Amino acid sequence: MRTGIATVCLSGTLKEKMQACATAGFDGIEIFEQDLVTSSLGPEEIRAMAADLGLHLDLYQPFRDFDSVPEELLAANLRRAEAKFRLMSRLGMDTILVCSNVATASIDDDDLRAAQLSRLASLAGEHGVKVAYEALAWGRYVNDYEHAHRLVERVDHPNLGTCLDSFHILSRDWDTAPIEALNPDKIFFVQVADAPKLSMDVLSWSRHYRVFPGEGQFKLAKFMGHVVRAGYSGPVSLEVFNDVFRQSDVERTAVDAMRSLIWLEEQSAQWLDAHYSVDEAGEAAEAVSEAAGRRRHPMELATLPRVAEPAGFNFAEVRAADPGALETLLGQLGFAFNGRHRTKNVQLWTMGHARVIINEEAPAAAETAISAIGFDVDSPVVAAARAQQLKAPAVPRKSQANEEIFQGFAAPDSTEVFLCQGSPDGTAAWVDEFGTPGGPGSGAGSQAAGAPQALIDHVNLAQPWQHFDEAVLFYTSALALEPQPYAEVASPTGLVRSQVMTTRDRGVRLVLNLAPLLQQEGGPEAAPPGAAPRRTYQEHIAFAVNDLVATARAARNRGLEFLRIPANYYEDLDARFDLDPAFLSTLRELNLLYDRDADGEFLHFYTATVGSVFFEMVERRGSYDGYGAPNAPVRHAVQYDHLHQLKLTA
Ligand code: MG
Ligand code: MG
Repeated sequence: MRTGIATVCLSGTLKEKMQACATAGFDGIEIFEQDLVTSSLGPEEIRAMAADLGLHLDLYQPFRDFDSVPEELLAANLRRAEAKFRLMSRLGMDTILVCSNVATASIDDDDLRAAQLSRLASLAGEHGVKVAYEALAWGRYVNDYEHAHRLVERVDHPNLGTCLDSFHILSRDWDTAPIEALNPDKIFFVQVADAPKLSMDVLSWSRHYRVFPGEGQFKLAKFMGHVVRAGYSGPVSLEVFNDVFRQSDVERTAVDAMRSLIWLEEQSAQWLDAHYSVDEAGEAAEAVSEAAGRRRHPMELATLPRVAEPAGFNFAEVRAADPGALETLLGQLGFAFNGRHRTKNVQLWTMGHARVIINEEAPAAAETAISAIGFDVDSPVVAAARAQQLKAPAVPRKSQANEEIFQGFAAPDSTEVFLCQGSPDGTAAWVDEFGTPGGPGSGAGSQAAGAPQALIDHVNLAQPWQHFDEAVLFYTSALALEPQPYAEVASPTGLVRSQVMTTRDRGVRLVLNLAPLLQQEGGPEAAPPGAAPRRTYQEHIAFAVNDLVATARAARNRGLEFLRIPANYYEDLDARFDLDPAFLSTLRELNLLYDRDADGEFLHFYTATVGSVFFEMVERRGSYDGYGAPNAPVRHAVQYDHLHQLKLTA
């Protein structure tokens, strides 16, 4: 697949954008007119630079509001077009995007439109330019790709074809199956963009909320599958208007963009495999091409090392600025200290199959935070090869002889993700590397008799606002997690966007929270003027146990500091669920939170926070599949209050 990207997707100057695209490995780019007009580089310099960078200049865009106009306006439009054709020849470009008219279209007449497009195609032909006509979703009269293609077929000029843009097609819910029947020689260009499903006018949706494939909810693999079966083999180019990407680091966004196309290519191949035999797909493309009087090779789709979804969490690691506070908290929760690592300054704490590493090798200035997550996978080597091909940055992990070497990658929020060999019984061989006594805790290496079984239920990571979509794609593509519909939770500092990523069997549940800006850069404990902003958002690791009430009682007896839940909450809970008074008073007494839905019940509690980390204990009853979302605003408000108190007493 030939990969491309429109310069409008990225921040920076045209020069910076081109360099970032080349570094990320794109074959070609679309030059967005605004980027050229504002560039200090002349057309010849841009052409030379693209050649030096090995970037093909695929498409010049956009040319707006050409068709469906009165004759006097048409003359002006043709003059405008000719100026662009001359410019394109200086750039060495041969394809221009012409959008269906949205503003000045005053005549709804396909005969007239075809005649006007025919004149444009003839003029373009004189300059060696090809016109790719695109039906905008909000085009005044032409807003459907089949309509645009019918006009192109009718004009039947070698210099006129269509551009298929997944956003304009999928935002309108147009059926994508008919793409297969389009004449591939008349498809001049294909643009792809994903988007979240939003209820808003389609123009604003398109201009601000497009995202890279895999970061939204469009069925892009199916769209691409139909494009491949049509026999198209030209560039597949990202055209993503997104307010965040346009102000993010250009090189990083370009890599995120490239990752989305690598992933889409694989997903499209899988979609074709699932729906057609390989021969059938090839034959269809060949048959269509033959019908058009030309033979062409169907698009080749590269695949990636295949991985199954991870089976579960192997461990979670907390970087400790204040190890003592974490040791106390884990001990009070009922975790056993399993000793220190024999060569590294890290401790292991376990409760059943829940394993928490306290890493004391952190730099002195670092705040206590979740620093790494280990996932159980079938084959760490295959999973690592896949992540590498998806351009996930590898992280070095020093290890001594005979120690297990984990393959690790940095997630977009810089959390380290390790790929570990899963075992059917949930144990981990590397645990044997721990056990040197001498640390705190009681009964090193063994769990207290009668201690509850537990496992990591979910991990909740706060995401910087500029890397949120990138994180969704990272976990989708590299780890085969599936994004669930996202929720928004009220907090005193703003709405927290909460994106759950899971495996199908829920062995892994990862919650990505987009924290409000105030929580990220200031908030109640903002850094003093002149100092670097402190992260004040909070992240947590949740452990599932079989008997939450017993776990809470035991923790209370060990002196655990619970997050204190206000009395108002319990009154509301009673009003909503009509709970047994004895049960309600147990909940109140132990600061437990409760939720119930058609699938089952959920009991949970939170600990106080150390640095930016707190812990949660949960009990799932029946097949409850959520996270106590109605209780999340209570948690945010209490934690906010607590931070305020800290600030006032500081
Ligand atoms: Mg487009
Ligand atoms: Mg939670």
